[in-house]
Amino acid sequence: MSTVHVVGAGMAGLAAAVRLAEAGRRVVLHEAAPYAGGRCRSFFDEALGTTIDNGNHLLMSGNRSAMRYLDIIGARASLEGPECAAYPFFDLTTGERWTARPNGGPVPWWIFSTSRRVPGTRAADYLSALRILRSRPDQVVTDCVDPASALFKRFWEPLTLAALNAPADEAAAVLLKPVLLETFAKGEAHCRPLIARDGLSASLVNPALAFLEGRGASVRLGERLRGLTMFGDQMTELQFTRGTEALAEADAVVLALPRRAMADILPDCPRPAGSFPIVNVHYHMTAPPETQPEAPLIGLIGGVAHWVFLRGRIASVTVSGASALAEEPAERIGAQIWAEVAGAINAPEHPIPPHRVVKEKRATFAQIPSQLDFRPKTATKWRNLLLAGDWTATGLPATIEGAVRSGFEAADRALRLSR
Ligand SMILES: Cc1cc2nc3c(=O)[nH]c(=O)nc-3n(C[C@H](O)[C@H](O)[C@H](O)COP(=O)(O)OP(=O)(O)OC[C@H]3O[C@@H](n4cnc5c(N)ncnc54)[C@H](O)[C@@H]3O)c2cc1C
Repeated sequence: MSTVHVVGAGMAGLAAAVRLAEAGRRVVLHEAAPYAGGRCRSFFDEALGTTIDNGNHLLMSGNRSAMRYLDIIGARASLEGPECAAYPFFDLTTGERWTARPNGGPVPWWIFSTSRRVPGTRAADYLSALRILRSRPDQVVTDCVDPASALFKRFWEPLTLAALNAPADEAAAVLLKPVLLETFAKGEAHCRPLIARDGLSASLVNPALAFLEGRGASVRLGERLRGLTMFGDQMTELQFTRGTEALAEADAVVLALPRRAMADILPDCPRPAGSFPIVNVHYHMTAPPETQPEAPLIGLIGGVAHWVFLRGRIASVTVSGASALAEEPAERIGAQIWAEVAGAINAPEHPIPPHRVVKEKRATFAQIPSQLDFRPKTATKWRNLLLAGDWTATGLPATIEGAVRSGFEAADRALRLSR
């Protein structure tokens, strides 16, 4: 039987390997780091004395590829979220609290209900969704939605930052289309917020490694790819720092590497340029907040912090598109953001709980109109070489859903190549 080599054990590579192993194909997964998960992983923080995620990750129940992946690895139950779609918000400038509650079914009557829609908005304001759905690839989100409107500040801006990790006046509107169509447009069952209850590795990584092991796949951590050998339209060798892996005629390779690694390994491959950072601050509180919101996260409006995720005694804050903040010293960030979080969860402002600031400077590629055409397709000019990763041409934002879908697509093509 032929072998498929998957290089890179982030969400794209794990998804490809899991799909191939599920189909009974022989798989070898190679990863440079001593751990799997890539940009989506947990680690034990010695100073806080607990396991935290490199960054908060929000999934939605309508993320069909991510849900399928979790079903294959038997880990869907490790996600938690409200029974019905609910997004609690807190406005730091006015002190207002509200919960956006999309209704069931595809007819969005929630926008006609003052208790369900965003306060300060009118039902007619939501027609801006149609302008997003009709947007052209050269338009940014603020070309489609009035940036002075309450709906922008309280819905479109938080959604854009969460999904595209870029300011709305730079983010490509066209990438919000699939997000709307696959979640909010299908009704509440498709837009429930979900987080990994015991952390990203416990939900998305470790069960995948266990699944692969159970299917006889080989997982080689600490194995860095440094080059490829091609002959004609075929890839013939993978060169790792530890040695060379020769490929049999029917073998295939899925490269699920980040863009920067591709620059050395496949320099002619197109790739989008530019990145936006994400800053996360994890606070280890002495006790969980006294009042728990309806969902394990709260959207913050009008401050520096965008979302606070609540998991027991840990309150983790996300700031997306955080180009300026990422340059500030960690102590200042920790203090500034706690003042906002304390207000949102009714915790004392002092003392500031022990915390860890994690700056992911290249969290995602710059999801702006000028970069979209540089996302490469799955297939390459070499018949047995396929690409995956959140930055490839999925048509989706650079998210877990995009990464998993790209991995599935590459795996399906590898399965069709040879049996
Ligand atoms: C802080 C943060 C918050 C985020 N929040 C969300 C969110 O809320 N929701 C959401 O859906 N998405 C979120 N994302 C995005 C999500 O994490 C990514 O889209 C996804 O993890 C990308 O997976 P990937 O496999 O494409 O890439 P990566 O995770 O980058 O995986 C690539 C892998 O290749 C390995 N590698 C690199 N070079 C080599 C080499 N030469 N040889 C072998 N292996 C190599 C790397 O070590 C890595 O494991 C967030 C990202 C960050 C950083």
